[in-house]
Amino acid sequence: MEIKRKKTKQINLGRLKIGGSSPISVQSMTKSKISNTAAIKGEIKDLINCGCEVIRIAVPDGDAVLCLGKLMDQGLFTDVPVIADIHFDYRLALDCIEAGVDGIRINPGNIGGAERTAKVVEAAKKNAVAIRIGINSGSIDKKILKKNKGILRDSMIESAMENIRIMENLGFYNFKISAKASSVLDTISVYRAISKKTDYPLHLGVTEAGPMFRGSIKSSVGLGVLLAEGIGDTIRVSLTERSVEEVRAGYLILSSLGLRAMGVDIISCPTCGRTRVDLPEMVREVEAMTEGIKDDLKLAVMGCIVNGPGEAKDADLGIAFGKDKAALFLNGSVIKRVEKNRVIDEFRKELKKLVKD
Ligand code: SF4
Repeated sequence: MEIKRKKTKQINLGRLKIGGSSPISVQSMTKSKISNTAAIKGEIKDLINCGCEVIRIAVPDGDAVLCLGKLMDQGLFTDVPVIADIHFDYRLALDCIEAGVDGIRINPGNIGGAERTAKVVEAAKKNAVAIRIGINSGSIDKKILKKNKGILRDSMIESAMENIRIMENLGFYNFKISAKASSVLDTISVYRAISKKTDYPLHLGVTEAGPMFRGSIKSSVGLGVLLAEGIGDTIRVSLTERSVEEVRAGYLILSSLGLRAMGVDIISCPTCGRTRVDLPEMVREVEAMTEGIKDDLKLAVMGCIVNGPGEAKDADLGIAFGKDKAALFLNGSVIKRVEKNRVIDEFRKELKKLVKD
């Protein structure tokens, strides 16, 4: 099955294109305090190294604008666009645009009304800055909520559509929309409705999804359903975790749907009563040795002859354990049969050759 993506309008976020036929981009938001220079610089570098394509930074006050300006002056965002995340104070948005950010995220529900939004839009237009209209279930405009009798889904959709009209009336089109709810079902329902009503690119996310395990599952379900329907142009997986984990989760969601190829994929069996080796430990070792490998490789570590040879054959490099020995597969053929306790070392050697080649 191939996913047919909805063709949205394409917008420019710095040099990155979002929407249209551009690949679905993966983004994250920094968690370090922007005033802690060493921490924020380290986090930005880690994000770039793990393939983050858009970095968003919270800008809660004037000092944060100055810090962000310094980071930009130091060339940290030469290769990746930066978005300033603004709430409550439209002047911060103006200052960030002045400082040279590629995009700003505003939540029109709390930025202070149409007039202030118009000022921000005007500045964005002049400076070729992209805007994300960030609707969030936790901060919907109260008037819209009241009008929709408190129904969150309908209020979020109306809020998104109203803000699209505001942007268009101001002659501004370089924007994308997000409408994140913490409920997976609301998120799916809201994005589906917005996608039917507009062609502007959509930034997908389940908001406040939770810690690593729970949040990854919620995001995979919510984003997975939408992406499989062709909806979504850029994604952020919100996790109460290090930001690089959000990026990894984002790529895993996209690659599991065949929407992006990114680095190593590991196929491993869940183990069962037939397993005669410590497979979880071996998979951990394989996972550790793939750290930092950017090549698109499929690796398989399989516990026995039931499904092992089939999966290992299908991988670029695979192990299938047999009764006494383990078979090592390279590009579909067995290249060695080795003692079980030596197979990880042999696997490592072959992986090195494969990556070098
Ligand atoms: S491959 Fe073999 S060991 Fe692994 S789960 Fe399947 S039957 Fe069990």
